[in-house]
Amino acid sequence: MVVVNTCGFIDAAKEESIAALLEAVDFAHARGARVAAVGCLVERYRAELAAELPEVDLWCGLDTATLLAALREAGGGGEGAEGHGAAVPVPRRPRPVTSYLKISDGCDRRCAYCAIPLIKGDYETVAAAEVLRSARAALAAGAKELVLVGQDTSRWAQPGWGGLERLLAELKALAPAPLWLRLLYLQPDGVDEGLLEAISRHAVPYVDVPLQHASGAVLRRMKRRGDGADHLDMLARVRAALPGVAVRSTFIAGFPGESDEEFDELLAFVREAGLAAAGVFPYDAQEGTPAATLPEQVPAVLAGARAAELGGAIDDVAGRFWQALAGRPLDVLVERGAGADGVAVGRCALQAPDIDGRTFVRGAKVRRGQVVHAVASGSVGYDVEADAGRREP
Ligand code: SF4
Repeated sequence: MVVVNTCGFIDAAKEESIAALLEAVDFAHARGARVAAVGCLVERYRAELAAELPEVDLWCGLDTATLLAALREAGGGGEGAEGHGAAVPVPRRPRPVTSYLKISDGCDRRCAYCAIPLIKGDYETVAAAEVLRSARAALAAGAKELVLVGQDTSRWAQPGWGGLERLLAELKALAPAPLWLRLLYLQPDGVDEGLLEAISRHAVPYVDVPLQHASGAVLRRMKRRGDGADHLDMLARVRAALPGVAVRSTFIAGFPGESDEEFDELLAFVREAGLAAAGVFPYDAQEGTPAATLPEQVPAVLAGARAAELGGAIDDVAGRFWQALAGRPLDVLVERGAGADGVAVGRCALQAPDIDGRTFVRGAKVRRGQVVHAVASGSVGYDVEADAGRREP
């Protein structure tokens, strides 16, 4: 059975999910296998999709019980197949050097443009015991880096047990210990002194904080808080607590009513904020969200042009961040061992998996999963070049 995990967040993700489903159908049916569609897009549009794509064999959405029953049937059942996704053996090659740990799901914030609460519902914490169990399994399987994710990670706490500080400390104390802990999707108002202290003690100096805009008026219309000055104040606190930190963000260009002046505010903010990376999205109205019915929708062409201009400004600023690393020592987690050209590819602690640039290390005979101590020699865009020194198993 081929399982396709779909996304229903924005139109581009919906189109990509449908293309992946069609590709999976061709691949699977040619081999006598079936296709199961899971995830958010299915959860939201199951009936419409089933009518449009009858060649997909199973529609599961977020209902893991149906998927697990189908997998048991496809795989002939077996020991430990009850109750949880991790119990279904899925061979993974090569062994992952990074593992994502979901620490919460859903969101209570209700930003005006966002469909996630409509799909996932209210914020729900994953229990500490479950996070630690998943972490132990990932580390035992060879993961060196654990990446904590959720829609609103800075809010994580378990009444009577503790908050992120304790969770990070307990994850760091596991044996074998993770090389790196990384937190993604920290909402700006959750970035307080306690969280920064916890990151500085236990996690990599990496802060992923979706800011979305810098104009206070646009942020109010988005049903979000703060403005550019608040963002800069938060970034100053982040840099004081985590010297050398890489800050990633996301922005939306062309939100309904965004004037030329408001967009210029966002551009000016980005030029001042010293970000290491950011995702930029042209506003894309999502069915059922309050922003979709706001007056003064910005034409798609203009939103796209603004997004491109903002992306260019971020490339310039971020390029300077990565260039400034030259001469600095870096630990690089190797994701592809050195080939015939003697160059290994991995990431330093300032680069998150799957979304940031990579680090190319010359002069090291290293394998995937090893850590090499290197010195940065330069950068190309978001990628870092480095020369190898000592390595660790
Ligand atoms: S905080 Fe993120 S997930 Fe929650 S509503 Fe806003 S954009 Fe959506």
